[in-house]
Amino acid sequence: MKLLVIGRGGQVGWELTRSLAPLGHVVALGREDADLSRPDRLPGLIGEIKPDIVVNAAAYTAVDKAESEAKLASTINADAVGALAEGARDIGALFVHFSTDYVFDGKKAGPYGETDAPRPLNEYGRGKLAGEIAIEAAGGDWLVFRTSWVYSARGANFFQTMLRLAQERETLRVVADQYGAPTAARMIADLTAHAIRQAAAERKSGLFESGLFHMTANGSTSWFGFASRIIDAFASACPGRVLTRSIEPIASSEYMTAAERPRNSLLDNCKLERRFGLFRQDWDAYLQLVFDEALASGSR
Ligand code: NDP
Repeated sequence: MKLLVIGRGGQVGWELTRSLAPLGHVVALGREDADLSRPDRLPGLIGEIKPDIVVNAAAYTAVDKAESEAKLASTINADAVGALAEGARDIGALFVHFSTDYVFDGKKAGPYGETDAPRPLNEYGRGKLAGEIAIEAAGGDWLVFRTSWVYSARGANFFQTMLRLAQERETLRVVADQYGAPTAARMIADLTAHAIRQAAAERKSGLFESGLFHMTANGSTSWFGFASRIIDAFASACPGRVLTRSIEPIASSEYMTAAERPRNSLLDNCKLERRFGLFRQDWDAYLQLVFDEALASGSR
C-alpha cells in the first residue's frame, strides 16, 4: 500500500509519518512540494504519485490571523481540500482529512455529535466547514476526523506555550470558561492509522462507507485545567526550573482574541468507537506521555 501524507512538518503530519509506516510505503510532502495555496496543481501531483491513500494533515491553523486573512485561509482549508479530494477520487484513492471542533458555536449543553448542525463562530471554522462540504461533494471515498485542542512535544501549541511561560512568569492567568478535550497529535496519528487499516480492508471487500467522525482524547477540561496539569507535571519533574507559583482562572471576556472561540468544544466519539473499535485514552494520561517526550527531547 502506498500512502501520501500532505503537511509532513505539522504536529499531526509529523506523527503520521511514524504511525502510518507499518501500513506501507509512506511519501510525506511539505509545503515546498505540495502548496495548498495553489489548489489547481494538487490533482496533478496526486496523479503523478498514485497513492492508495491520501492523508491531508496540512491546514491554515492560525485561528486569530484567519480573521484578517480569510481568503487565504479558505483557499487552503476549503478550495485546496476539495482539489485534493478530487485528485484522490480520480485515481480511486481513499482521502483522509482532519477538521475541527470550531465548526460548532459551542452553545450546546453536552458533547456534539456528527449530526449536530455546525455553526462556526470564526473564519477558521467557516473555512474548515467548507472543506468538509467540498470533500463530500467530490464524491470519492473519504474519511474526515474532527478533532480538538491539538498539542505535541514539537511545534507551536498551548502545551509548549505553558512550558515556556512557566519559566518566565510567577503568575499565569488562563481562560477557565472554555471546555474541550486536549488531544495529543500522536494519539490522532495512531487512531488514524488503525482506522485507515480497517478502511483499506473494507474497500478491498467492497464494504467501505465514507464518513465523518469525531476523534478526540477521552474526558474534558478547561484551558485553565489543562494549564494546571502541565505546570504540575513540569514542577514535579523539574522543580528548580518552574517560576510559576499561581495560576488564576479567568473568563474569556478577560482574554480578548481576534477570533471568537466556542465555550463548549466537547465532541462525542461514539461513532468512531463503534465503527473502528478503538479505545481512546484520557487526555491527562496522554499529557504525561507528551510531557516525558518533550523533556527527553530537550525541547524544554
Ligand atoms: P499545524 O499547524 O501543526 O500544521 C499545519 C501544517 O500545514 C504545517 O505543516 C504547515 O506547513 C502546513 N501548511 C500550512 N499552509 C500550507 C500551505 N499553503 N501549503 C502546504 N502546507 C501548508 O497543524 P496541526 O497538526 O495542529 O493540525 C492538523 C489538522 O488538525 C488540521 O486539519 C487542523 O485544522 C486540525 N485541527 C487542529 C487543531 C489544533 O488545535 N491545532 C484543533 C482541531 C483541528 P509549514 O510547517 O510549512 O508551516
